[in-house]
Amino acid sequence: MADMSTAGTSAPDHASTPWQRAAEGANLLSPEGNLGVTIFEEMTTLANSTGAINLGQGFPDEDGPAGMLAAAQSAIASGANQYAPGKGIPLLRQAVSDHQERFYGLKPDPETEVVITTGATEAIAASLLAFVQPGDEVLTFEPFYDSYGAIIGLTGARHVTAPLLAPDFLPDLDTLEEAFSDRTKVVLLNNPHNPMGTVFPREVLAKVVELAGKYNAIIVSDEVYEHLTFGTPHIPIASLPGAAERTITISSAGKTFSFTGWKIGWLSGPAHLVGAARTVKQFLSYSSGTPFQGAVAEGLSMPDAFFAGIADTLRQKRDILADGLVAAGLRVYIPQGTYFINVDTSPLGIRDSVDLARRLPALVGVAAIPVPVFCHEEGAERTKSLLRFAFCKKTGILEDAASRLATLKEKL
Ligand code: PMP
Ligand code: GLN
Repeated sequence: MADMSTAGTSAPDHASTPWQRAAEGANLLSPEGNLGVTIFEEMTTLANSTGAINLGQGFPDEDGPAGMLAAAQSAIASGANQYAPGKGIPLLRQAVSDHQERFYGLKPDPETEVVITTGATEAIAASLLAFVQPGDEVLTFEPFYDSYGAIIGLTGARHVTAPLLAPDFLPDLDTLEEAFSDRTKVVLLNNPHNPMGTVFPREVLAKVVELAGKYNAIIVSDEVYEHLTFGTPHIPIASLPGAAERTITISSAGKTFSFTGWKIGWLSGPAHLVGAARTVKQFLSYSSGTPFQGAVAEGLSMPDAFFAGIADTLRQKRDILADGLVAAGLRVYIPQGTYFINVDTSPLGIRDSVDLARRLPALVGVAAIPVPVFCHEEGAERTKSLLRFAFCKKTGILEDAASRLATLKEKL
């Protein structure tokens, strides 16, 4: 994956991954070699050191439901502080199953078809490490969330991408078909999509299912933003005909409930796939955040109105920031889901969003993430002038950020 120092110039190369360079003695944390730090950490550090409003790393600046906080506190107070069962406490596995049934009509068996993980990050890692060998291919859309490139690198597989194209950031279905091959072992889907904010329509999902069937590939579907959509319904790919038997679905409490620091995620799907991912999970973390699991079960059991409310609140935040970005003279792509909004900086004569992201905190006091860092070389070129802002922040903060950004043109 391109990073802050190589965006637009490097394709992934398993022989020179950051961890391998570290093993060879490179100081990745030195100013010239900060490849060991994710883009999110780098931009958060920059925001903190400059006092900028951090619209880079996607984390909310408010806690989630008070009842969940109280449940976690009382779990700690009452001694739920040792290892949970490896696959998660029964209450939470049941709650995940009930949630999948309530919203999507899917009914994973909580005993054999649900595993609780240390965030969606671990669920993604466990799934890929379970199914993928060196020589296999893993297909993702591009841009792609940063951990995908890293974990595919760890498996030794080849990372093949199909581009999401402006202005809707949907794939061309013929190009998608060409990206499949006999070596495609896993299609790693992210829907709704970070960073582009796409909520994939049924026809794209159906094409993925058709091609996964044709090439006998497993679908790993990262749906952490499932409840953060703005009028376009989220369709889990596992609910399409022919998909369930080859799909692992992943989600997390981080996004839905605004508890990114709890790191409680889950995966569900047919027992043979879930069992394989669970085997790997045992040796990644063994088990996950005991006192938080019951609290997340409580969250998943909240009424429908709670879930609809999260999206309504976020939609208002999206619109505040979008107005500010439009006023700043940027081309704004309104997302249908997630809490990320993308802009094209070229109307301001800026072609290099990586450079702009580095300068933005000092220029106007706002931090953002350049989209090329979510890409390989060609994709980085295609997205060279795109910048991502997170809008999961308090309304007042977003208004402040919007008025700061409005001064960008004169500060350039
Ligand atoms: N997938 C996507 C698409 C994400 O944006 C994120 C970031 N939250 C994750 C996975 C990681 O989720 P978690 O914090 O639950 O590990
Ligand atoms: N998912 C968050 C984002 O895209 C960041 C999570 C992380 O820092 N790894 O901003």
